[in-house]
Amino acid sequence: MNPNWDEDVDSDALLTPIASDEEDGEHKKKFPEFNQFIDIQKKIKLEVGMKFSNHKVFREAVQQYGIENGIDFLWVKSESKRITIKCKKGCGWRMHASHNEAENSFQIKTWTNIEHKDCGWSNKNTKASAKWLSLKYQDQIRDHKGKWENEPFINQVARDHKIFVSRFQVYRANKIAMEKLQGSHAAQYGLLWNYCEAVRLYNPGSTMKMKVEDNRFQRLYVCLDALKKGLKFCRPIIHLDGCFLKAGYGGQLLVAVGRDGNDNIFPIAYAAVEAELKDSWQWFLDLLLKDIEADRPPGYLGHLPKL
Ligand SMILES: [Zn+2]
Repeated sequence: MNPNWDEDVDSDALLTPIASDEEDGEHKKKFPEFNQFIDIQKKIKLEVGMKFSNHKVFREAVQQYGIENGIDFLWVKSESKRITIKCKKGCGWRMHASHNEAENSFQIKTWTNIEHKDCGWSNKNTKASAKWLSLKYQDQIRDHKGKWENEPFINQVARDHKIFVSRFQVYRANKIAMEKLQGSHAAQYGLLWNYCEAVRLYNPGSTMKMKVEDNRFQRLYVCLDALKKGLKFCRPIIHLDGCFLKAGYGGQLLVAVGRDGNDNIFPIAYAAVEAELKDSWQWFLDLLLKDIEADRPPGYLGHLPKL
């Protein structure tokens, strides 16, 4: 290892004079720009002078480069303005990139790209994090509905990248990818209040009723204004049904639908409730009858499926 390697060596000036002195823009060599959406999908190619939109994109690219080339590296310096990495085995492989003020980009300034002859291929690359796996295998995880089993997932990563990841990493990758694809369920429940307010504001006449118990979501009833109005043109019959909600928090979806003149299903109202109970059906039907301006018919609740 070169004993002179320390942080002061990494200059923020480009050591390789790639750009010519030509004043004329046409002759001036342009530095390649890394496209975070296209280039990250291919085998990563890096070079001195290459520009990235910001330090996060550079981090992602260099992480993938390390995995693809069996290099496990250390972050010597990792800041938003400058990043320096070096081979973990200490062979002297080193890269430094920093913020380019003039162009508001992140640029590779120096790169000691020596061969890792004695370092060997790093098959337990620490840069292959659960987050990286979740991005790299997003499509497959979606195909497996977030339940891609450990063994096939681990074997696929080993075949593709010659690295071994743990069961915990692939478990986390499944979870991260699905949260990204669906949004976190908890975060979505947190937005319900704003959603109700937005519907009331931009779709006046709609009914949005949320029931909470001990500050916890219990039920939500939705009857949009256009559906209320459209019901007048439907046949005088309403169908009711309930089904399970299969997302993380479970619960039941209650729905009321009508039939239009063409005998097509016409949605009227729906509610997410904690379970299919007499009390939840009653709550749903009371709100529904109010919305369609109907009185409680005789035998109300009497003809529902056995609860
Ligand atoms: Zn090395």
